[in-house]
Amino acid sequence: LKEGTEKVMPSQCPYCSVQCTMDLIEDTVFTNKRFKAKPDKGNPTSGGRMCIKGANAHQHVYNDERITHPLLKIDGEFVPVPWELACEYIAKQFQSIQHFYGKDSIGVYGGGSLTNEVTYLLGKFARVALKTKHIDYNGRFCMSAAAAASNAAFGIDRGLSNSLQEIPDADCIILAGTNIADCQPTIVPYFRQAKKNGAFIIVSDPRETATTKLADLHLKPKPGTDAMLAHGLLKILIDEGFTDSEFIASRTNGYTQLAEDLTSISLQRVSDVTEVSIEDLKTAARKYGDAPNGFVLTARGVEQHANGSYAVGQFINLVLATGKIGRYGNGFGSITGQGNGQGGREHGQKADQLPGYRSIEEYKDRKIISDLWGIDECDLPGKGVSAYEMIEKMAQGEIKGLFVMGSNPAVSNPNGVYTEHALRQLDYLVVADMFLSETARMADLVLPVSSYLENEGTMTNMEGRVTLRKAAKPVPKTIKHDWEILCDLAKYLGAGNAFSFSSAQAIFEELRVASKGAKADYYGISYDRLSHETVCWPCPDEQHPGTQRLFDSEFAHADGRAVFSPLELEKALSEAMTNEEYPLLLTTGRLMSHYLTGVQTRRSPDLLKRDKEPLLHIHPDTAACYRIEDNELVELKSSKGTVIIRASFTTAIRKDTLFAPFHWGDSQSVNRVTQPRLDPVCKMPEFKRTAVAVVPLVEK
Ligand code: SF4
Repeated sequence: LKEGTEKVMPSQCPYCSVQCTMDLIEDTVFTNKRFKAKPDKGNPTSGGRMCIKGANAHQHVYNDERITHPLLKIDGEFVPVPWELACEYIAKQFQSIQHFYGKDSIGVYGGGSLTNEVTYLLGKFARVALKTKHIDYNGRFCMSAAAAASNAAFGIDRGLSNSLQEIPDADCIILAGTNIADCQPTIVPYFRQAKKNGAFIIVSDPRETATTKLADLHLKPKPGTDAMLAHGLLKILIDEGFTDSEFIASRTNGYTQLAEDLTSISLQRVSDVTEVSIEDLKTAARKYGDAPNGFVLTARGVEQHANGSYAVGQFINLVLATGKIGRYGNGFGSITGQGNGQGGREHGQKADQLPGYRSIEEYKDRKIISDLWGIDECDLPGKGVSAYEMIEKMAQGEIKGLFVMGSNPAVSNPNGVYTEHALRQLDYLVVADMFLSETARMADLVLPVSSYLENEGTMTNMEGRVTLRKAAKPVPKTIKHDWEILCDLAKYLGAGNAFSFSSAQAIFEELRVASKGAKADYYGISYDRLSHETVCWPCPDEQHPGTQRLFDSEFAHADGRAVFSPLELEKALSEAMTNEEYPLLLTTGRLMSHYLTGVQTRRSPDLLKRDKEPLLHIHPDTAACYRIEDNELVELKSSKGTVIIRASFTTAIRKDTLFAPFHWGDSQSVNRVTQPRLDPVCKMPEFKRTAVAVVPLVEK
């Protein structure tokens, strides 16, 4: 650019599930910054807002550490190699492993930040080019509990049942286990407006956060007791006559038994388990029950538990019992975490799903997809295992080769020490990433990928709103797009015919057909439409306006009715996890300035400056018991491993609970201490509750 000239690049933030759009402006006259990001006022979700992450996202794209050539590890050192050689090498290695150990000895591990097109293609790549059943993704740690509960209750899984624009008209909102002010900051104004309009906001979180400042009532349940909390609220709604009998009778199944079973629980017991007072439980239930319009929204605080899907189901019960869904200003939602957490779980990179949320076990769905892919239905692999179970299969030697795209499993999986050991056991590890992430460093071969500024494709936000992110600038000559890499590799694996795509748009056209008539129906959505509007699925034809609010007339089960989650009290009772050796509970989460395992945000100087290392939040009274001083390095220990982390005093946390963010790797990775306890239904690990001990690093 000549001095004084300006280049405007319309783009979309690569991070959270709001998917804010912006103009990135490159200008040589800015004195201390080459780039400025200007939020897009026309975006229907973010409405001209953007947070610090979006404003600085471009910094990682221009970071000097970015990989620019395929890197082959020779004698422990990475050496740049041509693309042809890299692809040939990968194909030969994977084919050789499969020759000796079978097709399923190769795994594919994807991510919830990939575009819909890449998500779709990655599923096809695993099942058609590699012919393996082992594919799953990091969204298993993000949305799987809410997805399982929504499918069970509503027959379909979409983050929010309504558009966010309805939030300001709600009279009561329950935010359970979600810290939107730090994690999805640009949606907070919807809630502020609701409050201005008179809404009563209830936040349930063991910590005081920027979100709890919005609350009229802050419930601080003991970590892991959310299901019991929801039982208590439902009991009060029933006992005090806040239920909507007409809605229950005409639109739901399973209520009578649930109501009867709930009589066995006393409010005193709920209060004892959750450590929330009966008075607060009653206030919360009465405010929600009495409100003409209301929303219940959950997130990882409720979901990342070994009973996560059960707990979400109990929060959905509140919505169904009061008839607060299927009409304006009322609904349920799970606030998605990753940028394409929604689309990422719809198009086939989940072990048990085919594109459009089709089932990999149903003959009809398998036949539709195998016909589209030009293979025999019998040759379409079956159901694989979840993300963490794939790690277990690597450790056990069943999976011997792994292809990772858009993820950093070494840091994001629970039981980090074991996970690292499992990845090191592999005969061949290939990672496609922009940087040498903690996982990529372990790889035998690393492939460089394009950034969000270069990569065209669609994303689906938490509302089920599909948006088109156009490329803001060309991809550097020595780097390829994710979809190009998959097409090239497929060719070397002998499956080139099924991967003869020349653009992301061409892949989307196939995705549309694959989803036609399925639950997540994108058939009516096209790049042409998306170039001037956003569309919420389901959208069955090009004349259809899209669906901003679900369930107005029916739910997605065959009989059109929603299903209450039954009471299974043993799932709601908090196991006494702590003991003499590990007396405290650790909960993990996000910071506003970082995203996922921090591979990109730790390489954005303005974001790293804000939070340069993980801090362990600890109550000063708790710290005093262990002779820990503020700002001191400590050892955080569980039965699985140890993390060295700096203590940070705060009274905004329960005395029995510690908090640490998960955005750092190596010895600072908090997942070195988390447990691989999985929800039996959805396989979500229990990130939000680990029994730990904390001691000063220096003996006193
Ligand atoms: Fe918007 Fe989320 Fe990006 Fe922030 S991180 S700019 S809220 S999309």
